[in-house]
Amino acid sequence: MQLQMVDLKRQYQKIKSEVDTAINNVIESAAFIGGPDVNGFATELAQYLGVKHVIPCANGTDALQIALMALGLKPGDEVITPSYTYIATVEVVALLGITPVFVDVDPDTFTMNMDSVKNAITPKTKAIIPVHLYGQAVNMEPLLAIAKEHNLHVVEDNAQAIGSTYTFSNGTTCKTGAMGIIGCTSFFPSKNLGCYGDGGAMFTNDDELARKLKMIANHGQEKRYYHEMVGCNSRLDTIQAAVLRIKLRKLDQYCYQRRQAADYYDKAFKNNPKITTPYRAPYSYHVFHQYTLQIEGFDRDVLQQKLAERGIPSMIYYPVPCHKQNMLKEFGVASAVLPTTDMLQDKVISLPMHTELGEEELEFITRSVIEIIG
Ligand SMILES: *Cc1c(COP(=O)(O)O)cnc(C)c1O
Repeated sequence: MQLQMVDLKRQYQKIKSEVDTAINNVIESAAFIGGPDVNGFATELAQYLGVKHVIPCANGTDALQIALMALGLKPGDEVITPSYTYIATVEVVALLGITPVFVDVDPDTFTMNMDSVKNAITPKTKAIIPVHLYGQAVNMEPLLAIAKEHNLHVVEDNAQAIGSTYTFSNGTTCKTGAMGIIGCTSFFPSKNLGCYGDGGAMFTNDDELARKLKMIANHGQEKRYYHEMVGCNSRLDTIQAAVLRIKLRKLDQYCYQRRQAADYYDKAFKNNPKITTPYRAPYSYHVFHQYTLQIEGFDRDVLQQKLAERGIPSMIYYPVPCHKQNMLKEFGVASAVLPTTDMLQDKVISLPMHTELGEEELEFITRSVIEIIG
C-alpha cells in the first residue's frame, strides 16, 4: 500500500482520457494564452459560485495581492488576518507595505475568532481577510456584520475551501468566496480544485472592481499598450484552464468523497480521549481540504514519526504560525497574544486526505493511529 497525503495519480487515471484530449487540443491549437478555455472556465466557475465575475490569474498568492491592490490599500493601512494560516495570506499584505494585524482563531473551527476581530479594529483598519481553513467556512454572518459596521472590506481567502457553502441564520446559503467584496482561490495541484501546475482566480459581484482586477492582472492595461496603473503579469495558462474545466464538473463529487473519508476517520476516532476530531460547524459545509486532528496526552511529533515508520504520511499545518515567522519581524508582530494559535501549533496533525482514499487504507491509517497513541 503506497499511501499519499494527496493521491493525484489515481485521481488522474480516472479522468485520463478526458484530460489528455483537452490538453492535446490546446497544444494542437497552439493557443497557449487566453482563448476559449480560459474564458469558458471563468464563466463556468462564476456559475458554480453564483458570482458575477471570475477573473483567472497565475496563482492564489497573486489573487490575494491583486485583490488588495484593486481595493487601493496603501502602506499605513491595517489588514486583519488570522496568524493560523498559510503564509501567502499574510505575505501579500507585507509585500504591499500594509500592516498585518493578527487575530486568534477558535480552537474547534481553526478559523477567526469574532471577538478577537472586533478587538483588533483601529481607525487604520481597512480590510479583513477571513481564511476558510482546511475546508471549513468562517462564520461569515457575524464577520460581515462587523465589517459593515466599521466600513471594512472583506477579502475571502478561499484557497482551501472551494466547493464549501455557508448557511446564514435565515436559511439562505452561499458558496465560500462569494460573500466578501472579493474572493480569492488557488488551483495549486493539491487544492480541492487543483490543476496540473499553478493557477488562481478572483471572484466579485462588483463590475468596477472586476474591471480593475482584470487590468491589474494584465499590466494595468485595458487597451493594449495603454497602461493606466501599475499592475503585474498574472495569467492562468490555457492548458491549466482546460484541465480545470474538466475537474470543476467533478468538484461536488470530489468534495463528497473527501467528506466520506472524513466520516470514516471520525467514526474510528470517536471514542478515543486523546484525539479530537475536526468540528463541523453547523453553518459550514466542510469540504475537508485537510483532515486535522488535535492530539492530547501523547506527543504529536512521536505520533508523526511512528506513522512514518509504517509508511503513513502526515503533515503539520502549520509548525510556525505567521506572527512568529522571521519574514514579519519588522512588523513587530511576534509579541501578538494569540493563545489558541500557539496552543494548536503543538497539537495538530493532518492525516492523508484526498478523493481516492479506500476503506482498506482508511482502516490501516486509523488502526495505526489508535495503536500508536494507545
Ligand atoms: C495555497 C494557499 C494560498 C496560495 O496559493 P498559491 O496558488 O500556492 O499561491 C493562499 N492561501 C491559502 C490559505 C492557501 O492554502
